[in-house]
Amino acid sequence: MKEVILALRRLQEIDDQVRSFEEEYQEILERLERYRTVRDRMGDDLEAKKQDLSEAERLIRDQEEELKVAKERESKAKSKLSTAMKTKQYIAAQRELEQIKRVNTTREEELIQLLEQIEINKKTIKELDEKFQTLKEEIGREEESYTQRLGELKEKIGSVEHDRQDCTKRLPREIVGRYNRIKRARAGVAMVPVRNERCTGCNMMIQPQLYNHIMRMETLESCPQCSRFLFTPEELIITGEVAEAS
Ligand SMILES: [Zn+2]
Repeated sequence: MKEVILALRRLQEIDDQVRSFEEEYQEILERLERYRTVRDRMGDDLEAKKQDLSEAERLIRDQEEELKVAKERESKAKSKLSTAMKTKQYIAAQRELEQIKRVNTTREEELIQLLEQIEINKKTIKELDEKFQTLKEEIGREEESYTQRLGELKEKIGSVEHDRQDCTKRLPREIVGRYNRIKRARAGVAMVPVRNERCTGCNMMIQPQLYNHIMRMETLESCPQCSRFLFTPEELIITGEVAEAS
């Protein structure tokens, strides 16, 4: 039974490795996803700002056109004033001119404000665009290095899985089945050491009689509470023993 216990310990070690590789793999995928989300959101935001800007520029062109027409009306009103012969006509023409001037002044002021706002927006967009380009480059570099790491991890997972197969071949099928069931039910940990007379899986106190059995390694023992296989960590180095046993 000793070699079974040692092989199970090795199996747990391998599974811990697989889990840590898989966790890192998943973490990288999630990190890349976050980066891409940030990049896409920033890109969308920038695109929307650019569209707003071209909309505003179109509005400005329309207003400039309108102002031009209004200015023509103003100069017409001016010439009407200069040719007014009668007082009544003169007063009416003057009133008309004043009114047109007032409207045009407002238009001009609005146009100036709009132009100023457009300049500010252009500057903001330029800065945002620069930031976006930098971010894109950074993310591109990160993607490259992470993609490389993902490849390495895949390879490692593959080679560790090969080790796992070797290891399970040394164990009775029934025990591998039990091991796998416990592992699934217990967050990936099916084989745990007993420390300070407690199961390190669930912290339950191990009775002296059971503890003696575990120490002797003549039988495969499980924790009465969490069902995990138990071993005492004070034994000899695993790999050598397994090699010797096989
Ligand atoms: Zn336990």
